[in-house]
Amino acid sequence: MALIVQKYGGSSVGSIERIERVAQKAIATREAGHDVVVVVSAMKGETDRLMELARGAAQKQNPPPRELDLLLSTGEQATIALLTMVLQRMGHSARCYTGAQVRILTDNAFTKARILDIDAEPIDEDLKVGRIVVVAGFQGVDENGSITTLGRGGSDTTAVALAAALNADECQIYTDVDGVYTTDPRVVPKARRLERITFEEMLELASLGSKVLQIRAVEFAGKYHVPLRVLSTFEEGPGTLITYEDEDMEEPLISGIAFNRDEAKLSILGVPDKPGIAAHILGPVSNANIEVDMIVQNISNEGLTDFTFTVHKNDYEKAMGILEKTAKELGAREVFGDTKIVKLSLVGVGMRSHAGVASTMFSALANEGINIQMISTSEIKISTVIDDKYLELGVRALHSAFGLDAEEGAQVKVEGETVD
Ligand code: ADP
Ligand code: ASP
Ligand code: MG
Repeated sequence: MALIVQKYGGSSVGSIERIERVAQKAIATREAGHDVVVVVSAMKGETDRLMELARGAAQKQNPPPRELDLLLSTGEQATIALLTMVLQRMGHSARCYTGAQVRILTDNAFTKARILDIDAEPIDEDLKVGRIVVVAGFQGVDENGSITTLGRGGSDTTAVALAAALNADECQIYTDVDGVYTTDPRVVPKARRLERITFEEMLELASLGSKVLQIRAVEFAGKYHVPLRVLSTFEEGPGTLITYEDEDMEEPLISGIAFNRDEAKLSILGVPDKPGIAAHILGPVSNANIEVDMIVQNISNEGLTDFTFTVHKNDYEKAMGILEKTAKELGAREVFGDTKIVKLSLVGVGMRSHAGVASTMFSALANEGINIQMISTSEIKISTVIDDKYLELGVRALHSAFGLDAEEGAQVKVEGETVD
C-alpha cells in the first residue's frame, strides 16, 4: 500500500462530468489499496474570471492583495466541495479541506506566498479511517489567519508540499497533456513526450516559461525528494517522471525548449561608462520591487555605453518611468522600450560537456532570418530575446535543428485537440 497525492488542474475539473472522471480516478487508486490525497485547482477560467472582477472593483488601482487572495481562493474552495460531493455520491468516504483548514501555513506575501509548514495530522487521521482527502490547491493561511495564495499555477506546489509533509510515495500531476514534452506541444506539433527529465532541467524549463509545472513545485520536489510525475487526466500512459541525474541516464544534449512571452525590454543609450553605472540604473528599479531578468551592457564607445534589461510586462510602465528619470540624472542620449519580444531558451544538462550548442542555435535562428536581440547563458541553458512575431518559427527551427522532432505519425496527446 502506498500513499499517493494526485493533483488535477483547471481543465481536468472544468465541468461536473470532468469532476466525475477525476472522482473515478481517485477511487480506482483507492480501490487498488492506496491512500489517496487529491489536490484540485479552480475550474478552468475561474481564477481569471475572479481576477477580472477584482480589477473591475478596484478600477484603476491594483486590487488590495489581502482581499484579492481571499477572492481568488474561492475558486478552489468550490471545486473541493463539488469533488467531495461526487465522491460521496459514488459511495466513497471523503472529506475536503481548504488550505486554511488543513493549516497550510504560509508567509504573508499575498498573491505569491510561500509555504512554511503543513499540519499533516488531520489528513493522517482521515486516511487511517479510509477516507479520500481532498485539499484546495493554490492557497494557505498566514499566521494572522489571513488567506493567502501561492501565485499562478500554485496548486502544483500545494500538491508537492503535501506529498513532502505526508511522506507520500508519489506525487502525480494530472493535466491536459500526457507528460512533459520537448517544448509546448500546442506550439510545436512535432514535440515529443519525455520519459524522464531531471529536476535541474525541469527547474530551468519552468523558470524560463514552460507552464506545465509551477517552478516552486519543482524546487520543493527536488529539495524534499518527492517522486514527481506529470500525466494526462484524459489518456492512460506513463507520463513523465522527474528524476535525479543518474549514471545510467543517457544525457540528451538538449532536453527542451522554453519560451516566455511575459517579458518586456528597456534600453538606455549613451550613459557614461564608469564604475557604479549599472547600480545607478538598476538600483531604483529593484528598490521599486521590480525583478530584472536579462541584462546586457555594450562595450563602451568614446566613454559612453548602452544598457538593456528585461522585466515582467506587468512592471513595464513603472520601470520605464523610473528609467526616464535616471536618464535625466545621467544625461543619457535616449531611452526606449519594446513589449513585443519573447525569450526563447534551450535547456539541457548535456550542454555542460558539449561545445557548439550556442552556434547551432544562432545559425538555426539566422537561417530563418530571425534577429537575436539579447543573449544570456548559464551552465545548462542558453536564452535569446527575439521579436515575438517569430516565436513559432523560432521554436520550430530549434526543435528541428537539435533533432527533437517526433517521428512521422507520432501523435501529441493534448486535450481538446489531437495534433498529428
Ligand atoms: P493545469 O491547468 O492542469 O495546471 P497548465 O495549463 O498549467 O495545466 O499546464 C499544462 C499546459 O502546459 C499544457 O496544456 C501545455 O500547453 C503547456 N506546456 C508548456 N510547455 C510544456 C511542455 N514542455 N510540456 C508539456 N506541456 C507544456
Ligand atoms: N487556479 C490557480 C491558477 O489558475 C492555481 C492553479 O490552477 O494551479 O493559477
Ligand atoms: Mg498549472
